[in-house]
Amino acid sequence: MSKIGDRIADILAKNDEHQFSLIAVSKTKPMSEIQEAYDAGHRQFGENKVQELVDKYEELPKDIEWHMIGHLQRNKVKYLAPFVHLIHGVDSLRLLKQINKEGEKIDRTIPCLLQIHIAKEETKFGFDKDEIDALITEKVLEEMPYVTVKGLMGMATNTTDMEVVKQEFTSLRSLYNELQPILDLDTLSMGMSGDYQLALACGSNMIRVGSAIFGQRNYAK
Ligand SMILES: *Cc1c(COP(=O)(O)O)cnc(C)c1O
Repeated sequence: MSKIGDRIADILAKNDEHQFSLIAVSKTKPMSEIQEAYDAGHRQFGENKVQELVDKYEELPKDIEWHMIGHLQRNKVKYLAPFVHLIHGVDSLRLLKQINKEGEKIDRTIPCLLQIHIAKEETKFGFDKDEIDALITEKVLEEMPYVTVKGLMGMATNTTDMEVVKQEFTSLRSLYNELQPILDLDTLSMGMSGDYQLALACGSNMIRVGSAIFGQRNYAK
């Protein structure tokens, strides 16, 4: 087995008391490393840049499930619409409407997660609770047959204070519990390399792990 394959197997084995999907976050990493993970049996990968995601989709085996985990600009939805497995970072109604529009053009219903703003940082995107409540009371989703909202996604504050992270994960899980029966959700995407064990303990069922699988990213190159 490869080193990358070993790390994936390790994360799965060490957390097998939980039911979850592992999204291997391959952003900035070469095709060869994704192929290595693929050859070890992994099929779910996450990217945060549209161009990079499309290039990798075109080059690599077609049974890979591609997850768009980053901030998505509306004018780029069309490039992903035909094949993306799940869009995690849907952070505005305008984006959701655009996804619906692109889905309609190609007659494909596109699976999405609503990104919820749980972190303290201003820079993190997402809906807040009031906006979600409005989505539901105004029956907005019912007017968008080409998107399926499968669940919620959140990113905790970037801090070493695990109490803060735990609070944020717990509050996202309770929002998920509240919305799950109303919207028929099945996916809660929370947890990254530094906090996925805590996220799983707080009820995540999809983790997005990059550096713990592929090593540190080098943005300079
Ligand atoms: C990069 C990224 C990850 C993975 O981060 P690591 O700390 O390398 O595991 C997870 N989620 C999102 C949204 C990201 O952009």
